[in-house]
Amino acid sequence: MGMMWTTVGLVAGLSVFVYVELAKRFRLDWRAWTGLILGEFLILFCIAWSVASVAEGVPRSASMGLIMFGGTALIAMILTWRLLIEPAQKPTAASHVVTGSQPKETAAATSESEDATAASQSGSTRRAFFGESVLRAIGWKKAAAGGAALAAAGLGTYAAIRSKGIPLDQVPNEMTDDYKSFDNRNCIQTFCISEELQEMYPERVKAWEARAKRDGKDFTVATSHALSIKGKMSDQPGYTQLDYALRSGGWLTSRSSGPAAMPDSGARSWDQSDVAQQQWRFDSQQDAAKAIKRAAELYGAAACGITRRDRRFDYDPIYDPINEKELTWDDDFPFEPKTVIVCLIEQDYIAMSAAPTAVADATVGQGYSEMDVVASHLAHFIRLLGYHAVASGNDLGLSTAYAASAGLGELARAGWLIAAGFGPNVRICKVYTDFDFVEYDPPRDFGITNFCIHCKRCADACPPQSITHEDHPSFEATYEGADDPNYAFANHKGVRKWQNDTLKCFEYWVEGGTGCSSCVAACPYNKPDFWHHDFVEATNIITPGPLHQFNKEMDKVFGYGSVNDPKKVEQFWKS
Ligand code: SF4
Ligand code: SF4
Repeated sequence: MGMMWTTVGLVAGLSVFVYVELAKRFRLDWRAWTGLILGEFLILFCIAWSVASVAEGVPRSASMGLIMFGGTALIAMILTWRLLIEPAQKPTAASHVVTGSQPKETAAATSESEDATAASQSGSTRRAFFGESVLRAIGWKKAAAGGAALAAAGLGTYAAIRSKGIPLDQVPNEMTDDYKSFDNRNCIQTFCISEELQEMYPERVKAWEARAKRDGKDFTVATSHALSIKGKMSDQPGYTQLDYALRSGGWLTSRSSGPAAMPDSGARSWDQSDVAQQQWRFDSQQDAAKAIKRAAELYGAAACGITRRDRRFDYDPIYDPINEKELTWDDDFPFEPKTVIVCLIEQDYIAMSAAPTAVADATVGQGYSEMDVVASHLAHFIRLLGYHAVASGNDLGLSTAYAASAGLGELARAGWLIAAGFGPNVRICKVYTDFDFVEYDPPRDFGITNFCIHCKRCADACPPQSITHEDHPSFEATYEGADDPNYAFANHKGVRKWQNDTLKCFEYWVEGGTGCSSCVAACPYNKPDFWHHDFVEATNIITPGPLHQFNKEMDKVFGYGSVNDPKKVEQFWKS
């Protein structure tokens, strides 16, 4: 990519000589300059876009870039040449003598110049100097062009600032007065693993299985968890022995700590026996935050945010579905947490593009394994500084809410986090600690919710249609069965968000024998780290809703976000 930017810089630099030559031969007015500069900008944009697209392995995006940006540049250049440059050729000395006439443009320029001189000589008032006389001196058209350039620069700066997020006092998702912490027993996987919970709530099992049967599915709650991880091997790309071996390797470390929803197990142990006797004192809260984030990065986190512990985001009670134990924060948890450190783990973009196959689930499994590594290493580090700490994956609390609270992203339509700079292709792990001499990160508005309102691509891509197509987040779910408490038990009430039928999602995993992630792969925010994607995301922030829809459609046209595509599996193995 460095070579590409050097080429772009060279072309831009060399074009100055072309402009100088053109200015010698032609009498270029502001329209000609605008056409030339716009055309050159589009050509350079086209080169940079297409090279980046080839580098990321999306030739369709490269060709579309050539057609759309290169084509527009060509049209702008041809029109500018034909209509504005060619007719403005400077007369030779001979032709000037023969005709004895003054070309119209020269007359206009002279007239402008004379006007300007007259204005400057008039000794007019300060208002006149900063108003009419300045405009007349530089010409109102040039002033308009300068104003437009300034406005574009201002918008660019605003977009760059906005993409860092606007700090908020609290997470943007409104909560009702009677909001209650989510009961861990209502988490789908906890419920599906636990035989005791299924016996305790037979009406839930009945409601779920009846709905699945009506939809023609052979689904039972009791066997669902085992089937969702068992896999269905075949000779189809993405489901072969090779693909499933990859998947198992990804999940290996995570599985050694038990199911991801299980608390106090393996890497997520509540054991505090290694807390150092002596407490390390940081010079400042900023130093403490920096040290923790640096350590998180070293252990493998792509990003780290620090927020206060918020009981609303914690499961209450906590439930261990393997040992069938209900656990409380006050009596069972080893200390009173004050801070939650949230880390993001980035997943493999090409593997995720192969959703919903075992290859995509391999990067999910790898993400879960890394969650345990990062969180347990960070928790151990903090314990050796003399403070209590417990590593957490999907257990203990709502990871998405904590990540949003730590300023790492926003809760998106599909129910997961879209992380700033990373999109949805991340996993989240946490460390609960009683260390609180630290600078906290505020939640931030990145403009993602606004984009989700108009996008809905995840909802279109979801095979069982479990993601809502409702325009706006709301308190009420509208999916079929949402009014039946026995069916909608996994729905977290009292928070404004997009309400999805998560039971249908899990059913689909069971049906396929592997995770799905089609919604992640389809999301326009799911992109590798290339400048042109950052550019589009920045424009999303400053453009209004209808343009979001346009961008979403363009995302498809440029070849991104397709799912269930065997070529993506092949691309993964050959990349
Ligand atoms: S993982 Fe698959 S089934 Fe579940 S919400 Fe996403 S697209 Fe739908
Ligand atoms: S696909 Fe679109 S609507 Fe869905 S989460 Fe991504 S941005 Fe939001």
